[in-house]
Amino acid sequence: MTISSPVTIDSTMEEKIEHARDIIRDARKNCPKIAVACSFGKDSMVTVHIVRQVEPDIPVFAVMTQFKPPETFAYLVKMDKKWQLGTTVYLVADEVPEILKENNINVRLLPTDEFNRKAKEVENQTGQKIYSALPDECCRLLKVDPTRVAVADLDAWICGLRNTEGRTRVDYQEVENKGGLLKFNPILTFTEAEIWRYMATRGIEPHPWYALGYRSLGCAPCSHPGGILERDGRWQATSKCGGECGIHTQRLK
Ligand code: SF4
Repeated sequence: MTISSPVTIDSTMEEKIEHARDIIRDARKNCPKIAVACSFGKDSMVTVHIVRQVEPDIPVFAVMTQFKPPETFAYLVKMDKKWQLGTTVYLVADEVPEILKENNINVRLLPTDEFNRKAKEVENQTGQKIYSALPDECCRLLKVDPTRVAVADLDAWICGLRNTEGRTRVDYQEVENKGGLLKFNPILTFTEAEIWRYMATRGIEPHPWYALGYRSLGCAPCSHPGGILERDGRWQATSKCGGECGIHTQRLK
């Protein structure tokens, strides 16, 4: 697979956008079974916006959890409607959240037994919630395993990862191959300032938590405002502070 016009962090935003479009077109041409992952954070919104310009029929999926803030579900509904995304949500839960049901969002519910059993066990042993005591296990059960389901029938997926987001993202590549599943990261060289410029110049309304000082959004108990690097607010006071949930580090197939 060849990606034309290489870019670096010092390239102009216009060059980076054109390069991202090239990556997406190439990905679509070479991988018919492809989808774009959307967390409804700022980087996802830019990625999905670019994808919709060049390959509007690439499906969109979102892995949500019971710990995402209500504002994320509300923003998902709003942007799904506005951009007519037809998002498929993967969620470990017994019931579809009311706001998703009312707005006819496609939801694939995944079994809760293993998560409930583990969460109870951790709470009995430590007196703490699973996301505080064992965040890796919580992320595995609520994010990594559901992502495995979401990509099970795909050849490839497109993500909004960026090299300057945090210490764990410096070495990510534009095209990765893990176990035969290709991952494309078309906005890898965008800076945080460029993400905001892209959104402002295209009138893309951001998730409301950014106005509160958050720079990277995840589940409510594991996201905090501020930080030197964007992801510093993730999993504060745990062993994986500023780290990864696992969907970008583990094999999904
Ligand atoms: S981000 Fe926190 S609450 Fe969400 S799945 Fe991971 S540990 Fe659990």
